Amino acid sequence: MGCGKDGERAMLELENLNKTYPPTSGRAQGAVPEPALTDFSLSIKEGEFFTLLGPSGCGKTTTLQSIAGLEHPTRGRITMAGRTVFCSATNTIVPSNKRKLGMVFQSYAIWPHMTVFENVAFPLVHGHGGCPRSEVRQKVMGALERVGLHDFADRPAPYLSGGQQQRVALARSLVNEPSIMLLDEPLSNLDAKLRDAMRVELRDLVKSIGTTTIYVTHDQTEALSMSDRIALLNKGRLEQLGTPDQIYNTPRTTFAAEFVGSSNILKGQVVDVSGRRCTVQLAFGVVTCPVTGSVEKGQSVGVMVRPHGIAINPAEPDAANCFAGTIRQISFIGEFLDMQVAVGGEILRVFVNSYKTHRTGEDVTVQLPVDLCVVLQG
Ligand code: ATP
Repeated sequence: MGCGKDGERAMLELENLNKTYPPTSGRAQGAVPEPALTDFSLSIKEGEFFTLLGPSGCGKTTTLQSIAGLEHPTRGRITMAGRTVFCSATNTIVPSNKRKLGMVFQSYAIWPHMTVFENVAFPLVHGHGGCPRSEVRQKVMGALERVGLHDFADRPAPYLSGGQQQRVALARSLVNEPSIMLLDEPLSNLDAKLRDAMRVELRDLVKSIGTTTIYVTHDQTEALSMSDRIALLNKGRLEQLGTPDQIYNTPRTTFAAEFVGSSNILKGQVVDVSGRRCTVQLAFGVVTCPVTGSVEKGQSVGVMVRPHGIAINPAEPDAANCFAGTIRQISFIGEFLDMQVAVGGEILRVFVNSYKTHRTGEDVTVQLPVDLCVVLQG
């Protein structure tokens, strides 16, 4: 069985997955389809809540369906708990129903003419493998217990709230005791308030059950708040892999910085590198930044700083990375002021506490705190 770097067991390994769909009839004649996945590799640990994040069309669903066995990569290998379930080189394809997976999709497909119990029992009664009748009740009630719906077993499924229906879908995917759960945008059909509540509930539930979970979303808030680790995809390739903190606070590329959270990205050139610090010439002056990746003198880079990281009128205006600016625009958002501040020829977006009073046209000192500046690699 494969091991993660820190010695934890790898429950799922994707090795160099490539997928190109056959040309569709609607395409211009002779046009070669873009690959949906290119050399995509990942190792997911046992018990991990792992999210595939990225914009529409980046390959999240293709990855999930390849894991599920509902699509087959053009090339590559997929291993689950040490067992190869797909390998293009050896022509190995383990069918979907033999992969020990639980799945919850966007339209969580609860049968409206069945009770909660019947819905959850469905994969046991109608699935392959034939579960003895005597075990069905015990397994269904066990799954309902885990999602907190054991008192609702006899209720017709339509007489449930959206969140409860979501939990029925989860119980149904758990009833076969899967090794891996696949969740494809399971919250996207819920209204905004319920989605907020279910984020926490779903994560706590899945973590308490301890099943390795692969979650697909294009919603950065879901990804950041629920995941142990995130794989950010861009055009079928792995853009960045890391914890929510790493993805948000130290994005490696302009794509990552722009996709997750609000950001200011300032173009510049590295003028000096000294130990773990470097200086970058921007349009309006020189900034000092920490070095996180490989940075060379003369390199063209982007420097990212989050709008809420920028300080206005800091206590020490002579400290590093301080510049004179003028407030051009203020939007009152409630929890904060969203300001546009002109510094040299650039406009910086700055969020400040809304209890502070500022006015358009005000001259201010702007500080880009050294530790909050991130040099982007491309
Ligand atoms: P979304 O968030 O919109 O669901 P996604 O990140 O899940 O997007 P995929 O559905 O994996 O992306 O699609 C990746 C690429 O493969 C896209 O360019 C898409 O158009 C293409 N694609 C997906 N399914 C098929 C198919 N069955 N036939 C042809 N092309 C497909």
